[in-house]
Formats: sequence, structure tokens, C-alpha cells
Amino acid sequence: MNSVPTGLKISVSGIVQGVGFRPFVYATATRLQLTGSVWNSSKGVEIELFGHQHQLDQFLTDLKTQLPILARIDHIETNTIPHQELSGFSIKDSQAEEGQFLPVSPDMSICSDCLQELFDTKNRRYRYPFINCTNCGPRFSIIKNIPYDRPLTTMAKFKLCPSCQAEYDNPLDRRFHAQPVACAECGPRVQFIVQGEIIGKFEGAITTARQFIEDGKIIAIKGLGGYHLACDASNDEAVQKLRERKKRSDRPFALMGFDLETIRKFCEVNEAETAILRSPQHPIVLLPKKDDCSLPEALAPTQNHLGFMLPYTPLHYLLLESDEGFPEVLVMTSGNLSDEPIAYEDEDARGRLAEIADGFLVHNRPIHMRVDDSVVRLVEQKPYFLRRSRGYAPDPIVLNDEIHQMLACGAELKNTFCLSRGHYAFLSHHIGDLENYETLSSFENGIIHFQNLFRIKPKKIIADLHPEYLSTKYAVDRACKEELPLLQVQHHHAHLAACLADNLWPFGQNVIGLIFDGTGYGTDGKIWGGEVLVGGYDSIQRRFHLAETQLPGGDTAIRNPAKIALSQLFSADLPWTDDLPPVKAFTPQELEIIKSQLAKHINSPMTTSMGRLFDAVASLIGIRQVATYEGQAAIELENACDPEEENAYTFKLNSDIIETAELFDHILLNLRMGVSSNTIAARFHNGLAKMCVDVCQTIQRESGLQTVALSGGVWQNITLLNKTTSLLRDSGFSVLQHHQVPANDGGIALGQLMVAAAANESN
Ligand code: ZN
Ligand code: ZN
Ligand code: FE
Repeated sequence: MNSVPTGLKISVSGIVQGVGFRPFVYATATRLQLTGSVWNSSKGVEIELFGHQHQLDQFLTDLKTQLPILARIDHIETNTIPHQELSGFSIKDSQAEEGQFLPVSPDMSICSDCLQELFDTKNRRYRYPFINCTNCGPRFSIIKNIPYDRPLTTMAKFKLCPSCQAEYDNPLDRRFHAQPVACAECGPRVQFIVQGEIIGKFEGAITTARQFIEDGKIIAIKGLGGYHLACDASNDEAVQKLRERKKRSDRPFALMGFDLETIRKFCEVNEAETAILRSPQHPIVLLPKKDDCSLPEALAPTQNHLGFMLPYTPLHYLLLESDEGFPEVLVMTSGNLSDEPIAYEDEDARGRLAEIADGFLVHNRPIHMRVDDSVVRLVEQKPYFLRRSRGYAPDPIVLNDEIHQMLACGAELKNTFCLSRGHYAFLSHHIGDLENYETLSSFENGIIHFQNLFRIKPKKIIADLHPEYLSTKYAVDRACKEELPLLQVQHHHAHLAACLADNLWPFGQNVIGLIFDGTGYGTDGKIWGGEVLVGGYDSIQRRFHLAETQLPGGDTAIRNPAKIALSQLFSADLPWTDDLPPVKAFTPQELEIIKSQLAKHINSPMTTSMGRLFDAVASLIGIRQVATYEGQAAIELENACDPEEENAYTFKLNSDIIETAELFDHILLNLRMGVSSNTIAARFHNGLAKMCVDVCQTIQRESGLQTVALSGGVWQNITLLNKTTSLLRDSGFSVLQHHQVPANDGGIALGQLMVAAAANESN
């Protein structure tokens, strides 16, 4: 017997608008011979379906399993409704409700369909640099407000031509309601500009840009979320010139290779890395350099990894197109002077980059929000973020529980902020180091933009405990002006909470937190950073910390690993003998000054920083005495590790202190025995991993806890991360690593938010 036809109302939330979701529903329903309609609402997508039960069941299965690439379903609600006799399936007009909101899709790399059309001579968008569809292209960077409709994007000024309009209106077309849709007739155009003069248009602009690169010049390119500076990566002179002009110390440059085969010539790329390089997000992936890598050392001095990405816009493809003699790999570094935010507005870029770039490859599609490239490594086959930005932001972190609407302002370096609503924590794109006016204003504007986009009115403001962070000052100021409660969260508590939220850890359950970091303001006013915490979102206890040492010269010591090494020797009562690299780094007069500084505690705050311990060891074994960027010495120390070495230094636990005096004694002994720096570096890493197991076992005996969270900037050290994780697992612990947000300060804001949410819970 045939079943009686019935009806189903389906509400879907998640990333379901502007990503080809309604056409997908239309096509699926039509294929299954269901009738009804679909429409966008302020909460997501609503569907009414009529047909037989088995068809409806099939529809629900297909809905979940055959989604368009950029769509993501967070929640589906279904209700049976009375059957209606209809003649077909239709897409209806949007219905807006005041105050409702939806996640917004991040910017996505060009899809394979568009890429094929780009190089198809018969296609009407052949070689059009802004080809896109509902599966790809700009989103977050061009959206001014919601609902996500063309008039509220930076595409508003481009009126669709009849052909584009027809595609835009056709529910069966890949470009149905693709807001940035355009063609050479009606859309944005490229130009090449030298000293304010246009010297190339359309194809000519690209040809000229390529010529400049071939000639060893530096060009600025307006991309998806901001300007890049590019040059031929194999041209040593061009790379050096870029480094000088950009004043970029020794920080590595990001690279773009035309295709995977090109990248494979220089780096090892495994399957998981291939997948992430090719994912719609197209982040920069740090890949191990091949031994015979022929690219200049100046690209990434002293690094054994290179940061590679694949082209992610049609313009990149046209620019890098392979051709006899044209460079296979370009430097694609952010368009800024060292320490400034990346340029994204045309006039600003032309001003700020004038001294760096010989020419500008630009276009007239405005960028509303600047978004930097994301940077990841692969850990346990999953992305491990060093920077979470383009392609990922503003995708929310989905939480276990609904929490209040709040704003967390993050830390000072690698700043991101985070706003919450419902089950969502909207962690912002990478803002940068809040040290100058430009970055601070992009922080402030970013917050207002997110609040507006997701219709969030914070009821509480959260900040770091550090009184001098500009993000803290903003929070204090704003809480005062708007008469909102302010909560200040200790830096390493926030790191721990970020790692817990990253792993969907529930409220009210404690873990062991190994929070190893560069710098964070402690509850005692000292600089913390080598912290073993016991607790959860709601509270922490500082169970162990690294032995305190002085930071001669305060914050400036971060650039001076040699000073930190001397301070460590001083605390350990070990003599500053002339044979030691940090001693050699100073004149006798300078050494006298540092010694009296340490003896009298002048401008030498106390710290338990793990980052600084790495600096001290790197200096002592001759790896680095002066750092040009934060973390440089630690990265080089990691790179120096001999992978075969199995011995380890011992860290003694003394009540709540992890002693380091003996460590330095051992290192000196090894140095004098002629043990290589590679062996010493490995013994140091091995020792830390063992110490982690020791402290965790001690805490386990005290409390029974067996889950360990690893957070803080030091965990960007993958050697330490892998060694520690496997030792802990071997000892029966379960380990929480970061995989959605960075372990560094880029994840802090999420943690701050969750600490505040826990405080609300217990009220
Ligand atoms: Zn596409
Ligand atoms: Zn057109
Ligand atoms: Fe930190």
C-alpha cells in the first residue's frame, strides 16, 4: 500500500546563506520529486517540503551529506506539518526578523569550476581576474552589513550586466545569488601603477606586473584581504632588497608556488599537508625544507621550514601562470612595514608602500575588512594554528552551551578579540600587535564591525589583567562609558580556558594545565609564563611554576637572550666565564652594569617565563645572542635539536617550584665536555617533556586528574609538543591540544570569554 503524503518544516542554521544553499535545496527537492519552498530567514534557511515519508527521509540524508563546499550546518530542526497539494518547488523571497543574525562565510579560495573557466578560451570569463561563484571568492572582506546582499557589500557600485544578472537570477546556476558575481563587462578591473601613473590595464596590467617580477623588482599586489608585497623568490638580490626596504629583521617571508608540484621541489609535503594546502581556506602551511632546497636562505634565515601557500584568487593564478623563464615561486609577504598592520585601502597602501614597491598591481573592488593570511602547521594530521585569519575568521567557534553576549578584548601581541552570542564565539581575524595607532584603530573598528554584523550588544567586557595592555585600556574605558561590568582574567588562566573551549571541554570539570608562554601578567604583579595550573574555566590554582629569575632591563630583555642567560647563571650562582657566548656578547663595562643591575634588582622584574628559559639556553650554547623578533631564539633552538638524541636534563621539583639551577650547571658541564649544541638542544627539549610528566604525575597523585591541556605560545614548538604529548599519553594521560584556535595569544580572547561565561554560570 502506498503511504499517505505528508509535510515537513525544516529550519537550518549555520553557514547557509551566500554559499549556494537554496539552489542546493531546490535541486535536491526537485530531484526527489518533492514539492514546497525554501527561503532565507534571519536565522538561517527555512524549508517546507511535501511528499512521501521515504522521499522526505532521503532529503534529510542528502541535506546533511551533500552540502555545497562552503556551507556548514550547525543545527537542524524538523516538524511535521499538514500535507499541501502543490505543483512544484520554489525559492521564495527572504524574510527578515529584527535582531536575528547568522554566521558570515569567510573568504574562500577560487573553486575548481571557476579555475577551469578562467583558463577556458571559450568561456565568457576567460582570464577575468575576479571570476567567482557561490562556492568561492570574497565574502567577509567585502561585507559591510547584513543581510548579505549585494547592496551591502563593496560590490554595490558594480551594476550587473544582463548575462551576469541572468546567472544571478537562475536557481539552477552556480552563480545564483552569488553577491560578488561579475565579468569583464560589468565587474572590477585591474591596473598597474608606477609612481602614480597607470602604465597597464586589463591583461596589460598583469603582463607588466610579471615583467617587473622577472626583472627582479618588488611589486605590491592588492589581494583578497589586503596588499601583499611580491618578488621572485629565487632572486637573492630581490629578496634582500625587499627585506631591507620592509625593515623586516629576520622574520621569514611567506611564499606562493603556482602548484603543488612546484612546492614539492623545495619542501616535503605529506598527504595531510596537501589536503590543507588545497582546502578552500588555502592557508600558509609551514613545510619542512628539503635538504637540497635551492631557494635563497634570506627568505627564512636559520629556519628549517618554509611557509608556502597556493594561489587563492584568480588574479594570483594569472600572475603566477607558468611560462618558460617566469619564476615558479613568489615571495608573498604582507604589505606593511615591519610592525604595522597590513595595508588594505588603496590610498593608504600607495602612501605606506611607496618606498618599498616599484609598482602596484591594483583593482577597484574595495576591501572592507582587512584579513591577513592564516598560518598553520600540521600536528597529528590536523591543522595547528599559528595565525587564524583569512579563510577561517569570522567562522565562529561552536560552544557546548549558550552563553551571554559578551566582548573579550584579548591580549597585546597577536591580538584577536572575541564576541559571543548563543552557542557561538566569534573569534576575530588576526589584528596584530597593539603597539601603534594603526593597529589599535583596526582593533576598535573590528569590534564595532563584528558587533554590527552579528547583532551583538555585549553585556560584559573582559580583558587581561595587565594594566598597560592597550586592549585592557580599551576594555576599562568602554566598560566605564557604557556602565557595563568588567572582568579581568589572568593571562594563563585565559590560555587554559581557550584550550578547553577548543576541545569542547564542559564547565565544572578540572584539568591540569601546562601553560608555557612568553609573557603574562601574574596575580602577584610578576611576569608569569612557566605555569602548571590546576583548574577549569571557573578558577585555577597555581600548582607549580618555573623558578623565578630576573629580567634585566625589563621588556627589552626579550630582544636580548644573552642578558637572560647571564641572569640565569647569576641566579644559579654560576660564574660568567669568558668562554661563554653570552659573556662574549658584551664588553667588560656592559657586564659590570648588568651584574650590578642584577645584584641590586634595578629595573629587573622577576619572571617565571618559559619563553625566556628557551632564550637563555639558546644564548648559552651559542645559537643566538640578539633576537630581531620575539621567539626567534626559541625557534632556532628547536631547529637545532638532534632528533636522534634520547638523553634528557633533569628538572628538580621543589614544593611548588620547578628548579632550573641544575639545568644550567649541566649545560655548562656538557659545553665544556665538547657536547654539540644540537645534542644539548635536544636534551633540553627531552628534559622539559619529562618534567611535564613528573608534574602531571604529582598532581594526579594529589587529585586524580588525568587530563592535561597544553596552551601558551611555547607550544608553537612542535618538537616539544610532540615529545610531551607522546610521553604523557604513554603515562596514561589524555592530552588536549589546540586545533581550532592558536596556542599563542591569538587564542586568548576565546579563553577570556569562557572564564567570564563560567563566572556567569555559577552566579
Ligand atoms: Zn567558484
Ligand atoms: Zn557581467
Ligand atoms: Fe600568552
